Amino acid sequence: MSETNDIAEIRRAVQALCAEFPGEYWREKDAARAYPGEFVDALTRAGFLAALIPENYGGSGLSLDAAAIIMEEIQAAGCNGASAHAQMYIMNTLLKYGSEDQKAKYLPGIANGSLRLQAFGVSEPTSGTDTLSLRTVAVRDGDEYVINGQKIWTSRAEYSDLMLLLARTTPREEVASKTEGLSIFLVDMREVVGNGMTIKPIRTMMNHSTTEVFFDDMRIPASALIGEEGKGFRYILSGMNAERILIAAECIGDAKWFINKATDYAKERQVFGRAIGQNQGVQFPIARCYAQMCAAELMVHHAAQVYDAGGNPGAEANMAKMLASEASWAAADMCVQTHGGFGFAEEYDVERKFREARLYTVAPISTNLILSYLSEHVLGLPRSY
Ligand SMILES: Cc1cc2nc3c(=O)[nH]c(=O)nc-3n(C[C@H](O)[C@H](O)[C@H](O)COP(=O)(O)OP(=O)(O)OC[C@H]3O[C@@H](n4cnc5c(N)ncnc54)[C@H](O)[C@@H]3O)c2cc1C
Repeated sequence: MSETNDIAEIRRAVQALCAEFPGEYWREKDAARAYPGEFVDALTRAGFLAALIPENYGGSGLSLDAAAIIMEEIQAAGCNGASAHAQMYIMNTLLKYGSEDQKAKYLPGIANGSLRLQAFGVSEPTSGTDTLSLRTVAVRDGDEYVINGQKIWTSRAEYSDLMLLLARTTPREEVASKTEGLSIFLVDMREVVGNGMTIKPIRTMMNHSTTEVFFDDMRIPASALIGEEGKGFRYILSGMNAERILIAAECIGDAKWFINKATDYAKERQVFGRAIGQNQGVQFPIARCYAQMCAAELMVHHAAQVYDAGGNPGAEANMAKMLASEASWAAADMCVQTHGGFGFAEEYDVERKFREARLYTVAPISTNLILSYLSEHVLGLPRSY
């Protein structure tokens, strides 16, 4: 892919920052399941997490396509962008649908690093992927909303100041379409943690700082509502396209890391008196993963460009996410196989990246649900649910 000088410069700058956070740093954080705060601070100081914030609010006003390059390079360097990626994609809902007051209040602080916007509360334990069945409710009471319910898998909630929260404001039985009656709130967590909001960490197979969040009569000002009450699902769909595109870009970065790591190892490792990479049985899986990654990479940038041009990239964002997550998972498996037993040793980082890469065919949306979207909305097949 030929790239502009600006994009090449972004790549170099992210690579230089990531070089300060080598494998040992991530291994240590992984073993302790500790939040990589130093890395997130460094990304923030360098302005990368404010890439999408317009210049008049202190950001750099870059396109989603450029933001995708930042996330790709973080992963390609062996780092873990999951510690900070939400700030990029949550931003979209605030930028597109937030009021001038909300933007003026929060964006400069997010851009200069004094505020973190890292928590996205959508998933719930009982509704799963069926987001429209979520049970968290927000009831208007004078100048406030009172929120009750529970979220699950709210990643980085312990390390965020702000949370974008989806809740039902009109009961499902009272709305004409089930997509209505949901609303989005920008919750200032500093005011409610321990005062209506309780966060409980969930330990997972990789270092992801994910949590359960409970709301018990949590009171937030009515000014936390984004856009119009009841239209939250529409607002969040656009944000979800940005999320899928950015995570797809991370998967491309992961695939590149696995392919480079496997290629280097296959050139060095001597067995039967020659490099293992001299055997086509070892070469071909690497070459196949490379082709798969390149094809997915084209779709990721195509989706980002549709988004940046103001189009609706629903199909493209979903396809990019599916193809890129499958390419990175195939590359992860290939990389372990190429390393033989050493693929399981922590010091090679392969097993850590393998665990981290596994997430993305499941979250933020699983492959089946993407196939279902394409079947129904693109191919016109009968609706299945
Ligand atoms: C580490 C981690 C971090 C996360 N971070 C966040 C976060 O920050 N914020 C947030 O809101 N969420 C987050 N999530 C949640 C994530 O988006 C969901 O786990 C994901 O969307 C899948 O939903 P589910 O787990 O409820 O699976 P379910 O909906 O229970 O589905 C289980 C399986 O059944 C399949 N399935 C379900 N229905 C159908 C159907 N109709 N047809 C075919 N197959 C079907 C699915 O594809 C899936 O494979 C995170 C999850 C994890 C594991």
